[in-house]
Parts: sequence; C-alpha cells; structure tokens
Amino acid sequence: MNLGPDQINTIELNLRNKREALLKVINERLHHSDGKSIGFANHNNEEANLAEADLLNDTEIAQIKIDCDELQKIEDALTRIKHDDFGICKVCSEPIPFKRITAQPEATLCLKCQEEYEKVNLDLKNRSY
Ligand SMILES: [Zn+2]
Repeated sequence: MNLGPDQINTIELNLRNKREALLKVINERLHHSDGKSIGFANHNNEEANLAEADLLNDTEIAQIKIDCDELQKIEDALTRIKHDDFGICKVCSEPIPFKRITAQPEATLCLKCQEEYEKVNLDLKNRSY
C-alpha cells in the first residue's frame, strides 16, 4: 500500500460521490422525461414510429450498459480500497501515482500499462473488421 490514510479517505469520498452521481444518471435515463430526450420507459408510448422507438431504446440501453459497467468499476474500487493491493498496478505491480488514482480511483493499471492495454485492444478491434 503506497497511500496514506488521508489519501485513502479522499479517494473513497471521491468514489462515493461518483457512485451517487452515476446512480442518479441511470435513474434518470430509466424513468424521467424532460421533453427533449425521452426516458427509456416512455419511448414505446411516445414514438409513433416503432422503428424509431426501437432505435432510441437501443441507444439508451447501450448507454445504460456503459453506465452500469462504470458503476461496477466504482463498486469494485470501493471493495478494493480496503485491501493492500489498492493503488498497485495489476500488470507491473508498481504503485499507481496518487494523482492518477485520485482522478480515476477505478483504475487498476498505471498509465503506462493502460496505454499498452488500449493499444493492444485497439489492434485487436481493428483486426476483427
Ligand atoms: Zn503498470
């Protein structure tokens, strides 16, 4: 563990705030309608064109899935923060700098390994097309 108790507290607070904000966003996507972007539950009622409603639903489902993945990462980080290996890069075992872990507490890789990972993933994606 390369982080002090104060630093852990800061990060934990940050995570809890993020989780709260995210839950609010997901909740709004599922239930609310502000006239402009219609809430997920209302598409089928309000869109005369069913194909269009389907498209809107698909988009919102995709977005909600992204939000839920993000939420899962935050939950994971809140669990991991109690353990000694929090803030340690999963790949190279180097401490993740406090600045990075504060900005992105759900990060499990240091910046260098993250960049490598994204590069490999991008290559794989490009290959499959
Ligand atoms: Zn690393």
